[in-house]
Amino acid sequence: MATFVYDFAEGNKDQKDLLGGKGANLAEMTNIGLPVPPGFVISTDACREFMATGRHPDTLAAEVTAHLATLEATMGKRLGASDDPLLVAVRSGAKFSMPGMMETVLNVGLNDASVHGLADSAADPRFAWDSYRRLLQMFGGTVMGVEHDVFADALDELKAGKGVTADTDLDAGDLEGLVATYQKLIVEHAGREFPQDPREQLDLATTAVFESWNTDRARLYRRQERIPDDLGTAVTVIAMVFGNRGAGSGTGVAFTRDPSTGAQGIYGDYLENAQGEDVVAGIRNTLPLADLERIDKTSYDELLRIMELLENHYDDMCDIEFTIERGKLWMLQTRVGKRTPEAAFRIARHMLAEGIIDDDEALRRVTGAQLAQLMFPRFDAEAERDLLATGMGASPGAAVGKAVFDSATAVAWAERGEDVILVRKETNPDDLHGMVAARGILTSRGGKTSHAAVVARGMGRTCVCGAEALDVDTRAKKFTTREGRTVAEGDVISIDGTTGEVLAGAVPVSPSLVVRHFEGEHDEDPLVTAVADTMARADSVRRLRVRANADTPEDAARARRFGAEGIGLCRTEHMFLGDRRQLVEDLIVAESTEAQGTALAALLPLQRQDFTEILEAMDGYPVTIRLIDPPLHEFLPDLTELSVKVALAEAAGNADEHDRVLLEHVKRLHEQNPMLGLRGVRLGIAIPGLFEMQARAILEAAADRRAAGGDPQPEIMIPLVASVREFEIVRRRIEEVAAEIEAERGAVSHKVGTMIELPRAAVLADRIAKSAEFFSFGTNDLTQMTWGFSRDDVESSFFSTYLENGVFDVSPFESLDTLGVGSLVRIGFEKGRSTRPDLHVGVCGEHGGDPASIHFFDQVGLDYVSCSPYRVPVARLEAGRAAL
Ligand code: ADP
Ligand code: MG
Ligand code: MG
Repeated sequence: MATFVYDFAEGNKDQKDLLGGKGANLAEMTNIGLPVPPGFVISTDACREFMATGRHPDTLAAEVTAHLATLEATMGKRLGASDDPLLVAVRSGAKFSMPGMMETVLNVGLNDASVHGLADSAADPRFAWDSYRRLLQMFGGTVMGVEHDVFADALDELKAGKGVTADTDLDAGDLEGLVATYQKLIVEHAGREFPQDPREQLDLATTAVFESWNTDRARLYRRQERIPDDLGTAVTVIAMVFGNRGAGSGTGVAFTRDPSTGAQGIYGDYLENAQGEDVVAGIRNTLPLADLERIDKTSYDELLRIMELLENHYDDMCDIEFTIERGKLWMLQTRVGKRTPEAAFRIARHMLAEGIIDDDEALRRVTGAQLAQLMFPRFDAEAERDLLATGMGASPGAAVGKAVFDSATAVAWAERGEDVILVRKETNPDDLHGMVAARGILTSRGGKTSHAAVVARGMGRTCVCGAEALDVDTRAKKFTTREGRTVAEGDVISIDGTTGEVLAGAVPVSPSLVVRHFEGEHDEDPLVTAVADTMARADSVRRLRVRANADTPEDAARARRFGAEGIGLCRTEHMFLGDRRQLVEDLIVAESTEAQGTALAALLPLQRQDFTEILEAMDGYPVTIRLIDPPLHEFLPDLTELSVKVALAEAAGNADEHDRVLLEHVKRLHEQNPMLGLRGVRLGIAIPGLFEMQARAILEAAADRRAAGGDPQPEIMIPLVASVREFEIVRRRIEEVAAEIEAERGAVSHKVGTMIELPRAAVLADRIAKSAEFFSFGTNDLTQMTWGFSRDDVESSFFSTYLENGVFDVSPFESLDTLGVGSLVRIGFEKGRSTRPDLHVGVCGEHGGDPASIHFFDQVGLDYVSCSPYRVPVARLEAGRAAL
């Protein structure tokens, strides 16, 4: 018989699949002797069965009964008993943490009778009624489907009527009245009574937790975080401990290191006389954790001891939830804490220095995606700042946008292309879509552990929270500063997620510290040091070389500074634009070989100059230059426009002979499917002289560089080859040019190779490699040609539907389709090497800078990846991680 329920003592931290992260870690903490209230976990198997059948598994009820009996025996109390009741929390918790996305119900077991038992046994009626009204609120909302606002409004009304602002100002009588009100509201809105039977409460709460796996917000979060939809959640049932038992009690959240900067030293928020969600929800402003030392030194010292123990046990930064009940500390949750990219780099290096982890592990702890985030610009330090308020920098970055005060507006405005900052008092899980759409998030309440902060950090969104000086009025869509200045919907503001500053207007941004470091500036900043040390380690272990895609000397120079070891793709087409477009036009309309020759001769010196500068910037490193690839009509006027122009001129009786001839050529070159038309190697064969001119420009530039004392390493690359015959025709012409130059100026060392970007080339790579000296996989075209769709046409049309339907999890243009396109890469690589064992092979599509794809290319065995200059550090880091 399947087992669905496990006591904490039966589990451990490696069972996240089965027990969820929360359950597994509660089990772990129990087993290492930390003070955890006793409890048990209903496994994700049960949830998956529930999702499949719509019912609890048949044996679940009996198992819960047995484990509940054990729990009752341990506690010496019975669930919901009318004298001294056992109360439990029913908590969600999936394999991957989804902060605040699913449901939890506290104080299960209270009813009209046991509330009195609790009041008597605790000798504290206020506490008992406060716990009961919380149960009604959570159970009514989560289990019975009553809007949470219904309860919030009733609570506000009660406080307003009494003239108080804090929940803690309500006395036992007020809360007893509130319980009656809530019960009435539940009947009104849910159409049935709040269930008095404690076991029924427990079972219904369990169902609600199962169901919370599939709420819209949970699904959206999973899609964002690429968490599979079929894992399901576990349900943890744990004895309640009470932080709402007066001044000696409270609840808090803490991190063993600062999750936003990575600085050493504990970090957290504490709230006296409070329960559960109060801290995270930002309902009241919290105290910094350090204040606990003054309030309750014994518990504080104990907490510090446990935090150190946890960090050493998990070998990582942990976050924890704890509650103090009348001077006794209880651990309610721990997990390896989420952190900003900056914190990730700094913590990994600190932990290495502290001997907690080794070099390899330190490299595993950071990602290319995090490095990419650190390379985003930040606010210009010199710029003038019009400060509106300062909150807490909860998630770093520099965000500029129009203030909006609700998530729907954030989404709508972002969809029409505007940058927005979502401003809220505090966020709740229903704001997720607005947070995704916004450039940044600003709240007036809550600490660095509030919902807004945690979610923003997870998503890499800039966030400032707890800007208490701002009076946020979401109904009137505005906020007011202490000085009385008002910012209304649509006004532009800037927020600094590092310093917590909220600024009026658009503050100019400047390059990040990390980019400045890569650019060669010296800075003693701890983040820069951490990044530099990490990069050095990645460079020392990686097998893959990293080159850049660069078409200009400036890009080539930047790529060198960023650590590129050559150019993997230098496109030549932009060299035919601008002033030179006329020369290309002359070439195309040339009616005689002589006229063609003239046009080419005019282009030659210009091209030679281009190549000389690039070879100079990359001196000593290979530079792969791709001969012209796009269809020629891209360099000519638009067919329709030119037709109209000619027709109008003719009608007016002043026809222009040049335009008329040009139109003939535009018509001749017009294609239905330019991507599949006259381009790449086909141009080289169809238009004699064109590739020869480019090859001459490259080799002469190399000869010039050598004469000037340089070390040029040109590699001539032929695009869109499908057959070895095509390659050989072009190659022979190039070698003729090379022989001519050699006769005049001595041999110029160079290679001639091909792109592999057509499926035919991949499957016949053994033949092509007989003639080609190197391969470079053009994975953009290879993806288009393998799937048979054109990127420009499909990405904005049906791709989102494909993603929703799971045809792919991520666009195959963003991350390599390893199954399909990747197979062709593997085949091409292996076949190529089979006939030319020293064949040099790289990749130059956009995938060359994508972390997942880089790991795949490393596995296949390619020699290098090539990506845009700004991605080079990311690729170096990921190539290092791939080698571990
Ligand atoms: P989430 O996953 O959203 O953090 P949790 O299940 O951790 O939800 O619980 C929400 C809140 O309830 C947390 O602040 C937690 O500390 C509190 N809580 C959970 N279990 C207990 C308990 N047994 N006693 C008291 N408070 C609890
Ligand atoms: Mg929690
Ligand atoms: Mg291509």
